[in-house]
Amino acid sequence: MQNNDNKNSIYDELNKLTLEDLYASFEKPTASNKSVTSKKKEISAEDCLYDKLYICPVCGNNFKSKTIRKGKVRFISNELDLKPIYEPIQPDYYDIVLCDKCGYTAMSSKFDKLTNTQEELIKTNITPKFFPKQYPIIYDVDIAIERYKLALINSIAKKGRSGEKAYICLKIAWFYRDKADLENEIMYLKAAHKGFNEAFINDRFPICGLEENTLLYIIAAIGSRIGKIDDSLRILSRLIVKRGLNARLKSKISELREILKKIKS
Ligand SMILES: [Zn+2]
Repeated sequence: MQNNDNKNSIYDELNKLTLEDLYASFEKPTASNKSVTSKKKEISAEDCLYDKLYICPVCGNNFKSKTIRKGKVRFISNELDLKPIYEPIQPDYYDIVLCDKCGYTAMSSKFDKLTNTQEELIKTNITPKFFPKQYPIIYDVDIAIERYKLALINSIAKKGRSGEKAYICLKIAWFYRDKADLENEIMYLKAAHKGFNEAFINDRFPICGLEENTLLYIIAAIGSRIGKIDDSLRILSRLIVKRGLNARLKSKISELREILKKIKS
């Protein structure tokens, strides 16, 4: 199945993505529309997964994709930018659906949402360069990064919305954080920050499931990690006085605001 001699394969492109490429992908209006090692005795990583059947909207292929059984994983905590931590495995690692025939790849929530024009763009720009790979049942962080980068390249190829590309970049940044790879984490956070700002102006809410206040908070949290402390504080000051914030978000806003104020003082 594998064709490692294919020099012009899509996998070669994954590590060649630069911040400039990612920035450029956000500039035009969009088209249409750590691997957890703790072992809970009761629930194994395999218990948390099942094979979900998909039909590829590009090529009609029927295939199965590893999917999380929601009731099996346990939420532990959120980091400041809302990166979630679960046990015994990370649901985010499994949120990419990849057609092993044509290479069309997307986040599960976006997989079926493809226009005719986008289908053609995938056939032209992705399929000729794609070859299938065998993945193990349990994905480690490197496999997660590879699959999300495939989704990112697909989204760029189909001229996907800024919000979708930014959300994928945020996830990739989180995975690099799992690997303690600060350089790549920051690169993808910068891309996510730019993309979410574009999405805020051009896309309709909810953006990848994020409501306006949550997205603003994430923009502030990412900004604080990439050196935009003043911008982030301005956003947080506007947010904290809004009505109707849910208690969890409000507490995150206060926490981050206090941290940034201390840094400034
Ligand atoms: Zn397909």
